[in-house]
Amino acid sequence: MRIVLISTPIGFLGSGQGGGVELTLNSLVFGLLSLGHKVDVIAPRNSKLLKSNEKAKLYLVDGEGQISWQHQNYNSPVTIPDNSLLAEMLEKGLSIAKQSDVVLNMSYDWLPIWMTLNYETPIAHIISMGSESSVISNLISKVYAKYPYNFAFHSKVQAKDYPFIKKPIIIGNGFKLDDYNFQASVKGPLAWVGRIAPEKGLEDAVYVANKLGEKINVWGLIEDKTYASKIEQSFPKGAINWMGFLKTDELQKELGKCRVLINTPKWNEAYGNVVVEALACGVPVIAYKRGGPSEIIQHGQTGYLADPDDKESLLSYVEIIEKISRRNCREWVENNASSDIFANKVVNWLNKVINEYK
Ligand code: UDP
Repeated sequence: MRIVLISTPIGFLGSGQGGGVELTLNSLVFGLLSLGHKVDVIAPRNSKLLKSNEKAKLYLVDGEGQISWQHQNYNSPVTIPDNSLLAEMLEKGLSIAKQSDVVLNMSYDWLPIWMTLNYETPIAHIISMGSESSVISNLISKVYAKYPYNFAFHSKVQAKDYPFIKKPIIIGNGFKLDDYNFQASVKGPLAWVGRIAPEKGLEDAVYVANKLGEKINVWGLIEDKTYASKIEQSFPKGAINWMGFLKTDELQKELGKCRVLINTPKWNEAYGNVVVEALACGVPVIAYKRGGPSEIIQHGQTGYLADPDDKESLLSYVEIIEKISRRNCREWVENNASSDIFANKVVNWLNKVINEYK
């Protein structure tokens, strides 16, 4: 199969602004190449693919990015800036798509989904968020009526945000397991990883650490500075160890030393890459029973699921975290979320999409 992959217009690959999509894209490319497929990637200028993905052809595009939908009002209209990066990425992608079997879009935005109705090469979409925009959800509903196979979701609970999709295609997610080393350290610090933005609920994890009289190590891009400093000011000085945004290699080395990852999203997290990355290092995870993490974490086996927004429940699970076998955590990822497993699911799905056009 020859696949043209359109990246996110929110940030270049490696910037961290694109969130989990950046890592998902690279592990998917890796999986697709290992299965012998040909992949062209269209991404913003400065993007880098993993070294192991050098067989993929990377096309870099300039332009003005989009505002991420989770930071706009649900009923906001679509805005496309002058010199639009998204439009340029599509123009490039569609121009080479003529020699391809399928375009695989990873940007959560209106334009590529709308193009599906007006282009003869199939355009398939990995929907990377819950419903964050009425205009996009309504468009997905319209396109779905004509092309029922063209949308895939990371988790069942994410797909529930699109109730008009009767039998959602769930592809989970995949990780290049060689990039994560198992660590047996059970006595390490508390960890939190993610974009520092209100939908991620960092304050609840800091609350737990503070109650335990501990500091918490926080990795990730500070996307919302006002939000970050508000959290800092509401706890005693030094409660948070800001560890910065690290590349996967360094992140996994540090994260693997921790005794638990506390994951506290306030929104319907589509998947939650950081949950699986922690598990891959042998780090159990405590999360709210909400969104993707509620389908990933095996309660009592690879971590614990607390009632949504119940910080005391998070705290009580941290106190018994040593009951979780770190080996179980790694094994779950090996059996359920490797890049091979993920790429196979994606290929099966894309074959259905391609057949629909025949
Ligand atoms: N991440 C990273 N370095 C860091 C912190 C986070 O590369 O220091 C990456 C992490 O690997 C993950 C992404 O940021 O792929 C966050 O994705 P997630 O699915 O957890 O949430 P999203 O940002 O997509 O809402």
